[in-house]
Amino acid sequence: MSIRYEMVVGLEVHAQLATKSKLFCSCPTDGFGAPPNSRVCPLCTGQPGTLPVLNRKAVELAFRAALALDCRLAPFSIFARKNYFYPDLPKGYQISQYEHPFAQNGRLQVKDKSVRIHRIHLEEDAGKLLHAIGSKELDGTLVDFNRGGMPLIEIVSEPDMRSSEEAAAYLSALKEIVQYVGASRCDMEKGEMRCDANVSIRSSGSAELGVRVEIKNLNSVRAVKEALDHEFERQSELLTCGGRVLQETRLWDHEAGTTRAMRSKEEAHDYRYFPDPDLTPLVADEAFIEKIRSELPELPAARRQRFLSEYGLSEYDAGLLTSQQALADYFEAAVRGRQAAAKTAANLMATELLARLNAEDVGIDASKVKASDLGELAGLVQDGTLSSKGAKAAFAALWAGGDSPAVLVQKLGLAQVSDEGPLRAWVQEALSTNAQAAADAKAGKQRAVGALVGAVMKLSCGQANPAMVNRLIKESLGL
Ligand code: ADP
Ligand code: MG
Ligand code: ZN
Repeated sequence: MSIRYEMVVGLEVHAQLATKSKLFCSCPTDGFGAPPNSRVCPLCTGQPGTLPVLNRKAVELAFRAALALDCRLAPFSIFARKNYFYPDLPKGYQISQYEHPFAQNGRLQVKDKSVRIHRIHLEEDAGKLLHAIGSKELDGTLVDFNRGGMPLIEIVSEPDMRSSEEAAAYLSALKEIVQYVGASRCDMEKGEMRCDANVSIRSSGSAELGVRVEIKNLNSVRAVKEALDHEFERQSELLTCGGRVLQETRLWDHEAGTTRAMRSKEEAHDYRYFPDPDLTPLVADEAFIEKIRSELPELPAARRQRFLSEYGLSEYDAGLLTSQQALADYFEAAVRGRQAAAKTAANLMATELLARLNAEDVGIDASKVKASDLGELAGLVQDGTLSSKGAKAAFAALWAGGDSPAVLVQKLGLAQVSDEGPLRAWVQEALSTNAQAAADAKAGKQRAVGALVGAVMKLSCGQANPAMVNRLIKESLGL
C-alpha cells in the first residue's frame, strides 16, 4: 500500500515599500535599471561614521499593509542587526526586526480559507551581485548597491497552505491587497515582491509537521506553484523509498524546472541578532495607528461584498471589478446616479473595455472611453434605446474617438425602435408571411415565437427592440 502525502506550505514574502527614498538614508528608490551604484551614499554603502535615520513614510506604508492584513500592531518594535558576511552587505549586518516585529497575528482571506499571518517586520534590502557581466578587464563579480537599503516588509505566513494552488492563490491575494492599499507596487519582475516558500510533506491525516525545505528565488506566482509541485514529488519519492528530507535551503532553477541544494538551513542563532544601538525603538501610539487606519481605502473583500449587495452584480463581475482599485473606481464613477444600469455597465466593462485594455496591455487609466460615457451607454441600454449589440457598436466608436454616446447613437443610427406603431406593423407583416410559424407559436411552440422575433428583426434591419417584439407577437397571437 502506498502512503498518501499531504503538502504543507508557509510563505515568506518580501515587498518593497513604495517610498521615494530608502529606509535609512535619502537615496532615491528608482535605482532599478539605473546605472549601477548611481543611487548610493555613504550610509547605504556602510561607511564608518554614518548613522541611520528611519524613513517615516516607510513606516506608514508598512503599517497600512499590516492593518490591511488584520495584524495586531505593536506599540513599540525594535530594530535588530542580523549579522552575516556577504559582499552585497557592506556593513556586515542587515538592519531588520527580530524579537519585536511591528506586526503580528494577522490573517488573509484566500477564497474559502483564512490563512494566518505569523508576523510582519521591517528591514532593509541588500545590494545585488552581478556575476561575470564585466568587460575583459572587469571580469568576475561586481556589486551594485542601488538596491542596498531599500525599504522592505517581510510577511511571514503560518504553515497553513495545503497545496501548490493554495500557495499560489495566497501569493496572488497578498499581492492584490498590498498593492491595493498602496504599500508596494509589487512588480515581481522588478523584484519589488519576492517569495521564499517553505514546504514539508506528511502522511495525510497526520497532525505533525514534517521537516521543511526553504525554496529561494521564486519571482513569479507561477514559479511558486511549479517549484512546490516539483518539491512535493522530490520529497514524496525520498520518503517512499526510505530516505529522509534534510532541512535545507534550496534554489529553484526555473530553466531546469528543479530545485537544487544551496546550503543547509541556517539557524537564527547563527546570525547573532542584537538590538541596533543606532536606532531607537519604533513607537506607534494609538493616534498614529488610528490615523493610518482612517486613511485606508475600502479593502477588496469589503468592496466585493458591497458590489454584490449594492449593485446586484454576479460573483464573477464583482470579483473582477474589485481586483484593482482603479477598476472599481471607474465602475463606481460610471454608474453614479445610474444604479439601475449597474449590471449592464459591469458587462460592458468585463467584455468590451477589458478586452481592449488587455489587447493593448495597458491599465484602466489608459482607457479611451471615459467612465461617464460608459455609464451613459449602459443607461441607454437600460432604457431600451440601445440593444446590447448596438451598445457594442457604440462602444467601439467611442473607443475610436467618437462623440458623446447620445450623439453617436443618432449619427450611426444605432437607436432601437421602441415605438409600438412601427413595431406592430412589422409584427403583422411577419405573422402574415410566416403563417406556419404563427400557427406553431399559437400551438405553444417556443421556438416558433423565436423564429417570428427573428423575422421582425430582419424586417427592421436589426433595429426593433427585441423584448418589445416578443411581447407584441404574443399579444397578437393571444398568448
Ligand atoms: P525561519 O525564521 O528559520 O525562516 P520560521 O519558523 O519563522 O523559520 O518559519 C518560516 C516559514 O516557514 C513560515 O512561513 C512558516 O509558516 C514556515 N514553516 C515552518 N515550519 C514549516 C513546516 N514544517 N512545513 C512547511 N512550512 C513551515
Ligand atoms: Mg526565513
Ligand atoms: Zn543612501
